[in-house]
Amino acid sequence: MKVAILSRNSHLYSTKRLLQAVQEAGHTGIIVDHSLCDLIIEQEGPSIIYKGEKLTDIDAIIPRIGASVTFYGTAVVRQFELMGVFSAVESQAIVRSRDKLRSLQILSKAGLGMPKTAFTNFSKGGEKQIVEHVGGAPLIIKLLEGTQGLGVVLAETKKAGQSVIEAFHGLKARIIVQEFIKEAKGADIRAFIVNGKVVGAMKRQGAEGEFRSNLHRGGKAELIKLSKSEKQAALGAAKALGLAVAGVDMLQSDRGPLILEVNSSPGLEGIEKATGINIAGKIIEYIEEFAGKKNSARKIK
Ligand code: ADP
Repeated sequence: MKVAILSRNSHLYSTKRLLQAVQEAGHTGIIVDHSLCDLIIEQEGPSIIYKGEKLTDIDAIIPRIGASVTFYGTAVVRQFELMGVFSAVESQAIVRSRDKLRSLQILSKAGLGMPKTAFTNFSKGGEKQIVEHVGGAPLIIKLLEGTQGLGVVLAETKKAGQSVIEAFHGLKARIIVQEFIKEAKGADIRAFIVNGKVVGAMKRQGAEGEFRSNLHRGGKAELIKLSKSEKQAALGAAKALGLAVAGVDMLQSDRGPLILEVNSSPGLEGIEKATGINIAGKIIEYIEEFAGKKNSARKIK
């Protein structure tokens, strides 16, 4: 089969590993930069033009869509779906997972635990109340569009929390305000899900004195075996968002696992290095099962 990896950068670890895993499984792999695709939309035979040529004969795609290009990237994935090409992750599920607020609402509806979270429409004068709503200080304030731990602020006091909320609102920056989970002790868990199974999990510990555990912020990762409730929470989150491939971030708290975020293009480097598991290979095994079938043949487990 012929598999296209949608990625803007062929030098990224995840892109290289996926290409390698496609080839190791005896298939043909190509890298397609979704930002350079033109979409031809017509009733008969929708198509994609890439570098001047029509993309044909592709059996499956693995989207690796960066947050900054969600709009166009997901349009390209949708076009492949229109053409009957199997996608490891559905376009609609990527769109859903990229909206942090909507994702939290979906997860809450599914009955999954999460830190108490508040969101407002830049309401003036309500800062004090919002701080109280999430249980007072310390509290977390996050830019809705932030990634890799940038734009996540820990406010130690109520006053500091109010000032930060006011400042962000003044800049018209959308934020969520969240209860600070102290027991997590600067660590979080990333569970990697493929087709309804946890194929690898790691615990990330933030650098000394850092509450954020992101590897980009100097955090260290190690292999971890998930408890039953952590496994259930991670699988429930991926399923609720409709993601067959997902990275679910959770905090360990006194009241069980709390979901922070579900990533639809989770990086492979941290998890493969921490666990020694061939995660890219697991993704290829998954698409082998479905390529050539209709996207609707898939059931998100
Ligand atoms: P990003 O998407 O930018 O990585 P996250 O929401 O994942 O932002 O936050 C980054 C890190 O900050 C998390 O991995 C976690 O270690 C820490 N963190 C985030 N929210 C909380 C919280 N409510 N309580 C405690 N720690 C948190």
